[in-house]
Amino acid sequence: MESNNISLYWFRNDLRINDNPALYESLLCNDVVPIFIYDNSEIEDCKLGATSKWWLHNSLKSLNNSLDNKIHFFYGQPEKILLDFINHNNINKVYWNRSNEPWSIERDTKIKKILENKNILVKTYNANLLWEPYKIKKSDGNPYKVFTPFFKKGCLQSINPRIPLNKAKIENLKQIKNETKLTDLNLTDEKLWHKKLNKYWNPGEENAINRMNDFFSKGIYDYKIGRNFPGKKNVSKLSPHIHFGEISPNTIWHETDKLKEVSDKNTYHFKSELGWREFSYYLLFHFPKITNSNFQEKFNNFPWIKNQKLFDLWKRGKTGYPIVDAGMRELWETGYIHNRVRMIVSSFLVKNLLIDWRMGERWFWDCLVDADLANNKSSWQWVAGSGADAAPYFRIFNPVTQGQKFDNEGNYTKRFIPELKDLDIEFLFKPWEAPSDVLRKAGVNIGKNYPKPIVDLKQSREKALELFANL
Ligand SMILES: Cc1cc2nc3c(=O)[nH]c(=O)nc-3n(C[C@H](O)[C@H](O)[C@H](O)COP(=O)(O)OP(=O)(O)OC[C@H]3O[C@@H](n4cnc5c(N)ncnc54)[C@H](O)[C@@H]3O)c2cc1C
Repeated sequence: MESNNISLYWFRNDLRINDNPALYESLLCNDVVPIFIYDNSEIEDCKLGATSKWWLHNSLKSLNNSLDNKIHFFYGQPEKILLDFINHNNINKVYWNRSNEPWSIERDTKIKKILENKNILVKTYNANLLWEPYKIKKSDGNPYKVFTPFFKKGCLQSINPRIPLNKAKIENLKQIKNETKLTDLNLTDEKLWHKKLNKYWNPGEENAINRMNDFFSKGIYDYKIGRNFPGKKNVSKLSPHIHFGEISPNTIWHETDKLKEVSDKNTYHFKSELGWREFSYYLLFHFPKITNSNFQEKFNNFPWIKNQKLFDLWKRGKTGYPIVDAGMRELWETGYIHNRVRMIVSSFLVKNLLIDWRMGERWFWDCLVDADLANNKSSWQWVAGSGADAAPYFRIFNPVTQGQKFDNEGNYTKRFIPELKDLDIEFLFKPWEAPSDVLRKAGVNIGKNYPKPIVDLKQSREKALELFANL
């Protein structure tokens, strides 16, 4: 290719061709070469967890198929790769959608400066947030720290989220000699775990749209209430698709507005959850230290307990508390946990076991298909009580009553803990209290085929309350 009018499009967490502002703009008048770089930086927050790698591989595969295999894949340092590619291919414009993680903001700002110094035009766009964090401020100019005023006043009373763009003109994508392949990125290995994920998930833009439409045809009709029950199908499971940018929040937002037959309370609640995602990104932007430090500094001296054995039992779903174990086994089996159960298992780790939220957060990061720096960090801090607008310290989820209330028929728990499948619902969430004949009849042997509780709920709760109150 010799022409001077070639642009480069850098795919990142925006793996779609519909409503993709940077791709759309780049293709309006230029020939565009699409590339993807798997950044090998040693920065901890930049390294992908095992399940995210699986998703990324499959999402890229699907995207590349829809682009006639025109994507150039690279592994390494983006700055160097971009400069080499631009020099060799006479490129004079570079387009990308902005990422919002502190490490990527730092990296991209540096790269933009270097390219501009070489007279390359760099154009960047917002594609993954409904409201750009720097535009939303309180009337005194400071950032919001509480969700409700952030969402109701800061977001909803400002401009309406951008209307989604049409599909980009992908016929204008060009391929130059392409020696790089997706498989060179080594994102998947054929470990059993990765194979297992195929059963539960279908990455890719088309599947994201199908999932949204499926949810809009059924689950959303009882979203507000039903979203609390892990055994019901009232949540969208769009989170990994949104994280990898296979569908934009703008598309979901505006498609929700078209659902005239769904009651406002359900559509509003669903949109407010997208609002929580915005809030996480907002906090990350204004308070980037939350990735590693407590938002509330008084937590810096909290006496977290270091106990690898208890931590491992939690990870493996062997705490002896069925709803906690079901959640942790759901995570291991499917790469996902229902939101209600995420709150229960995380509260159990930080409040009943007094283990530092950062350990739980890392485990989620490695296992979740929707592992997302902003949502994961701020949700864990929310549960620990160390975050902005966090749960009050005395809110300690009781795994017995939570199970009884939100898995009242026991379907969810029994699905992930088959050894309890014949246990009467009365004792399902507290099997240690079941009379021996009930246990025998259900084939449950506490301490043998299902563990004894690893902590006493009452004592651990009292201890947590005392420690948290002392803060
Ligand atoms: C300890 C803990 C860790 C979490 N880690 C992550 C994470 O790494 N990645 C992630 O995407 N979410 C995380 N969440 C938030 C939430 O659990 C998931 O977004 C939600 O369960 C995804 O399922 P869904 O797509 O069916 O959600 P739906 O109920 O269908 O909601 C639609 C979308 O809204 C957003 N959303 C929903 N609930 C929340 C929430 N509480 N906070 C922020 N955004 C929300 C998500 O993008 C979600 O896809 C975490 C929550 C907790 C308590």
